[in-house]
Amino acid sequence: MRARNDGQVIKLLFNVSPDLFEEYREPILEALRRRNIEAQAGLPGAIPPEKVDYIIHATGGPIKDFDPFIHARAVLSLWAGVEKIVGNTTLTQPLCRMVENGLRQGMVEWVVGHVLRAHLQTDLYVREKPLAWQRHVPPLATERSVTVLGLGELGSAAATTLANLGFRVTGWSRRPREISDVHCLAGAESLPRALAAAEILVSLLPETPDTIDLLNAETLALLPRGCSILNAGRGSLIVDAALIAALDSGQIQHATLDVFRTEPVPADHPFWSHPGVTISPHVAAATRVTSASDAIADNVERAESGAPLLHLVDRTLSY
Ligand code: NAP
Repeated sequence: MRARNDGQVIKLLFNVSPDLFEEYREPILEALRRRNIEAQAGLPGAIPPEKVDYIIHATGGPIKDFDPFIHARAVLSLWAGVEKIVGNTTLTQPLCRMVENGLRQGMVEWVVGHVLRAHLQTDLYVREKPLAWQRHVPPLATERSVTVLGLGELGSAAATTLANLGFRVTGWSRRPREISDVHCLAGAESLPRALAAAEILVSLLPETPDTIDLLNAETLALLPRGCSILNAGRGSLIVDAALIAALDSGQIQHATLDVFRTEPVPADHPFWSHPGVTISPHVAAATRVTSASDAIADNVERAESGAPLLHLVDRTLSY
């Protein structure tokens, strides 16, 4: 079993709720043992700050001041979204976000399920009982255009799967990307083209100063009339009142929302009662304990061997 160069056992501080600590402690220690790395884990208070080697972090963890962790080599987020911690000025340690296969596969399945629901108009038959026996024959996927905003770990996987199903897929990112069978656009100036191509719009962007309120009255008006929207990025990407107005006017046919400005969505929020809104409670893609523990252990192993950390957050970009 390997220990640190100084002979000490690696110390992992879990800046998470007690429930998450119970859920992740043993799987992460076990994933490290499989890599022949010996570690100890504790909640805040259990390890002197200057002795901490790595901080496992989840939003809501009690530590807000990272200054005392002078020897911590990295803060490793259990979640993919880091908007709540990225602006913390006491955080000088490298920050890594979660990228793992369970998260990716879960998001692909959520996106495909809800895109197919919009594409096939399955709600018509759910609502219409007994059936009037009118046949609403949907176009084939090859005749349906889908735009994916955000072509990162999750967006590129979703775009590729939709393209493999035959959809005409346009993707949009900040920097130019190349993805097989996906028409890739990049940069703010190409957003109107990306939106104009969307009979179904999938948003998988992170929350950053540049993406907040991206889907507002002006940009929603650029979508083809009757477009369906899926948002599993962050709630702040959409201006709620503008979306409600667009749904009321028929500009947007349906919105399937997994993420919200306030979670849980307040009981009096108009999304609850709007017939054009489907709410899912931030379940599109959950971090899966086993594969996430391997992702954390991989990064610890890399850092211990002097290799560069994976999935580093770029503080200047906020994602
Ligand atoms: P990622 O790998 O960092 O990808 C982010 C993508 O967004 C990249 O393609 C990036 O462009 C693009 N982007 C960022 N800012 C942009 C801008 N101003 N203009 C155009 N494109 C921009 O992130 P990810 O792992 O795919 O995750 C995306 C988000 O999904 C997370 O941040 C989180 O908010 C959300 N999420 C939600 C759930 C859920 O259950 N609902 C679960 C996990 C994650 P570049 O390619 O040019 O960098």
